Amino acid sequence: MQVLEAAIAESANAWPLRRERAAELAERYPHAAEMLRLYQALIPVQERAYLEFPSPLVGEGQGGGYSKLIDFAVERVLPEIVDATVSSGPARLRDGVISVFCSADLPDLIRRWLHGQSLTPFETYLARASTSPLCEAMSPHPALPREPGREMEEDSSKTHCPNCGGLPQVSYFAVSGEPLVSGPRYLVCSRCARNWIFSRMTCAGCGE
Ligand SMILES: [Zn+2]
Repeated sequence: MQVLEAAIAESANAWPLRRERAAELAERYPHAAEMLRLYQALIPVQERAYLEFPSPLVGEGQGGGYSKLIDFAVERVLPEIVDATVSSGPARLRDGVISVFCSADLPDLIRRWLHGQSLTPFETYLARASTSPLCEAMSPHPALPREPGREMEEDSSKTHCPNCGGLPQVSYFAVSGEPLVSGPRYLVCSRCARNWIFSRMTCAGCGE
């Protein structure tokens, strides 16, 4: 993790690192080849979305940026996510994604994901794969809604992402590089991929 932290700090674009890491894992873990093949197909789509997304958006902070994000996700990213999934994803995921793409109100799907509302696994996959690179591109000033019930949470409590208000998806301890010094604990956001330092002795779920 020390190497990862240093590499992230040096580069504003994390996608080459993700590409390298996926190739490394695919070689090391053949049993995970199917999902890593899909991830490797998604990376160029998500990287292009991240780089082409115009941020800051016109109207960002007054509600304009939020609606533009949804339009961009539905019109420019989501169709390519469907194509990558159809070409490289497992059969069940492929069928589920096609069904959602053909029948769902796609702007409403993205909106519900951003608001943390209940979605089916196929809907969650499609919304997250299409929108998370845009959330990441909007860092550090996204106009994203807070999770329900967390609207008034201060950044100092940090059980939700200080950047976009999303839930953490993973926690890890960084390596300090010093024998007598413990590295900090980080949480990684499930929406914008930002990481932030969090207390080692505090529950990331309830904050106690
Ligand atoms: Zn976030």
